[in-house]
Amino acid sequence: EKIFSGFTKTRDNLAVIDELLLYWNLSDTDRVLDELEEALLVADFGPRITVKIVESLRDDIYAGKLKSGSEIKDALKKSILNLLTAKGLKTELRLGFRKPAVIMIVGVNGGGKTTSLGKLANRLKKDGTKVLLAAGDTFRAAASDQLEIWAERTGCEIVVAEKENAKASSVLSQAVKRGKEQGYDIVLCDTSGRLHTNYSLMEELVSCKKVIGKVVSGAPNEILQVLDGTTGLNMLPQAREFNDVVGVTGLILTKLDGSARGGCVVSVVDELGIPVKFVGVGEGVEDLQPFDAEAFVNAIFP
Ligand code: GDP
Repeated sequence: EKIFSGFTKTRDNLAVIDELLLYWNLSDTDRVLDELEEALLVADFGPRITVKIVESLRDDIYAGKLKSGSEIKDALKKSILNLLTAKGLKTELRLGFRKPAVIMIVGVNGGGKTTSLGKLANRLKKDGTKVLLAAGDTFRAAASDQLEIWAERTGCEIVVAEKENAKASSVLSQAVKRGKEQGYDIVLCDTSGRLHTNYSLMEELVSCKKVIGKVVSGAPNEILQVLDGTTGLNMLPQAREFNDVVGVTGLILTKLDGSARGGCVVSVVDELGIPVKFVGVGEGVEDLQPFDAEAFVNAIFP
């Protein structure tokens, strides 16, 4: 796997920590930790995690457990890694044993939902999986056109609405039925993403989930929420709302190649207790990587 290509900004934010720790000595501890705290906040780690990390470093330093700048840096990296891998968070897709496995992709418009779905289709297809796409965003006409382009690009079949104003749930139900009849391994379902404040969207997602479960019991196996990494901590309330209503099983954080500040990856995992399964690091078909917590920590703290 490619290493994270993004995070240059985060790396620059956090490089200050290296410098601080290089010249650290015990009498400097409080000043250094204040600056470390500032750097973590700027990188979007959020106040809760930042305080947790800094206070635990402070305790360990004064208890004599950390005796050099490099030991402090290692402890910092380790505590971030622990936050990302806590509570048995699993980054692999869980697809169950019934065919087809169904993955619903949810999230607000503009976050990178359709693009991520296309890239995911590409990955799964390359693994030798038979993938069917389902254009469940029946609200925006352009959405199914966009998905058709991805279907062509990835060589996947696609199910789209047969008539205007079709219900999303009926398109998805039809797609999953076809997936079952024609021996597909996975059905990837796009959904609508008009603003989450619109209650009927949430109702629609719930009803999509229900009809899918009626076709294949236990499905959808994954409900992946796409979150725009450039929105930083602002993604949290939005993520919570989707999770409360449909039960999100994993996150796809997009646009991490841009101006995203890497700390938001850690805060969103910690706040929601949901694993990041994939990260988007560009607009190309190959620019979706499985999330690797260790590679992530090493990318932001080289
Ligand atoms: P949707 O409305 O949620 O389906 O969002 P789209 O998939 O249409 O994506 C919105 C815009 O974000 C498009 O211009 C995408 O090319 C772009 N985009 C999506 N993911 C990424 C990413 O990981 N990195 C970058 N740089 N752009 C992305």
